[in-house]
Amino acid sequence: MAQSDNSTGWKPQTALVHGHTLRSQFQETSEAIWLTQGFVYETAEAAEARFKGEDPGFIYSRYANPTVDMFEKRMIELEGAEDARAMASGMAAVAAAILCSLKAGDHVVSARALFGSCHWIIEHLLPRYGIETTFVDGRDLSAWEAAIRPNTKLFFMETPTNPTLEVYDIRAIANLANAAGARLVVDNVFATPLYQKPLQHGAHVVVYSATKHIDGQGRCLGGIVLSDKEWIEANLHDYFRHTGPSLSPFNAWALLKGLETLPLRVRQQTHNASQIADFLAGHPKVARVIYPGRKDHPQADIIARQMTGGSTLVCIELKDGKRAAFNFANALEVIKISNNLGDAKSLITHPATTTHKNLSDESRAEAGITDGTLRLSAGIEDTEDLLKDIERALAAA
Ligand SMILES: *Cc1c(COP(=O)(O)O)cnc(C)c1O
Repeated sequence: MAQSDNSTGWKPQTALVHGHTLRSQFQETSEAIWLTQGFVYETAEAAEARFKGEDPGFIYSRYANPTVDMFEKRMIELEGAEDARAMASGMAAVAAAILCSLKAGDHVVSARALFGSCHWIIEHLLPRYGIETTFVDGRDLSAWEAAIRPNTKLFFMETPTNPTLEVYDIRAIANLANAAGARLVVDNVFATPLYQKPLQHGAHVVVYSATKHIDGQGRCLGGIVLSDKEWIEANLHDYFRHTGPSLSPFNAWALLKGLETLPLRVRQQTHNASQIADFLAGHPKVARVIYPGRKDHPQADIIARQMTGGSTLVCIELKDGKRAAFNFANALEVIKISNNLGDAKSLITHPATTTHKNLSDESRAEAGITDGTLRLSAGIEDTEDLLKDIERALAAA
C-alpha cells in the first residue's frame, strides 16, 4: 500500500521525538495538552465552513483534537500507514476495526489464539448481530483457505500470539484474504510497531493497544487503528465519529511522551528478554522456552522474513506444573506479578489461572498453555538484577 504522505523523512527515533508537533503561540518545548471538548469560531460563517469541510480546523474532540492528532500522525508515520483513529483503549480499537465494516450475514475467519476480550467480541458479540465466525489454527494456511465462504469479509489475527508467542505468516494469509475479497486485520501489540509492519506484508488494517509498549509506563489506556485512507473513510470514519470511542487528549499526551522513548525501552526490554530466554533454555527445572529471537522457535523462518526484532516477551514452561510456577512467581522480588505487558517494569503472569482462565481445558491445551506456563514481559531494568532474581526464584520453584 502507499506510503504515508505525512512522512517527515526522519528515521523513527527522530520522528517519534519531533514529528508532527503542533506548537501553540507560546512555543512550548513539550507537546501541549489541549484538554478541551470543543472549539470556538470567529463567525457563524467560519462555523458553517468548518462543518462543510471547506476549512480543515477542529470541530469537536469526539471527532479530532490537536493533542490526539499529534499522536495519530506520529503513529501513522511509524507504521507507514495513510490514516488512523486513536481510541480510548486497545479493545475500543479492536472492536471498531472489526465492527465498522461488517453487517448481518457477513462471515469472519479468525485465528483461535486470541487475547481474551478479542475472543469475546468474535465468539459472543458478533453472532448477536448475525455475523458468523470460523476459528482456525493460525499456523495452518490450508485451514484459513478452507474456512473461506462466499460471504467472508474479514480475517482477524494476532501475531505473535499471547501467551505462547506463535507466529503467523502475514503475507500468505493476506494473499488468501485478497483472493477472497476479504480484509485482514492484524492486532500487532506483541510485535510492537518497531519489529513488525503488517501493512508492508499485505495486511489491510493494523490495531494496537497503546496501553502496552507505547505508554509502556503503566499510566494510560489507549488504542489506535491504522489503515489506508480509503478503508478508513469508507468504514471507520463515521463509525468512530458517531459511536465515540475517542482517546482523551490527556492520555494522548502521555502516549506521545511514551512514543519518544519507545525505541529505547523496547531495545532494552528485548535485550533483557533474550538474555532471560537464553538463561532459562536448558535449565533443569524448565521444560520449554519459547522466544521469537531464538533459533529453536517453531516459526523461526517466518520470523526471519517478517520481523526485524525478537520480542520483549518470553513464554516459559516449568516442569512441575502449577505449584512450581506459583513458587517461582512468588519468590521473584524485582519482577512483579501482573497481567499487563510491555511495561518498564518486568512483569510475570500465570495465564492458566488469570488471563486465560475462561478458556475450556481443551482450548487451553490447544493454545499450548499448561499449568506450568508463565508469560514474562521483560522491563528495562538492569539485566544482571533480573537474571539474579530469576536464578534465586528458580531455586525456590
Ligand atoms: C492488551 C491487549 C488488548 C487490549 O488492550 P486494552 O488497552 O487493554 O484495551 C488487545 N490485544 C492484545 C494482543 C493485547 O495484548
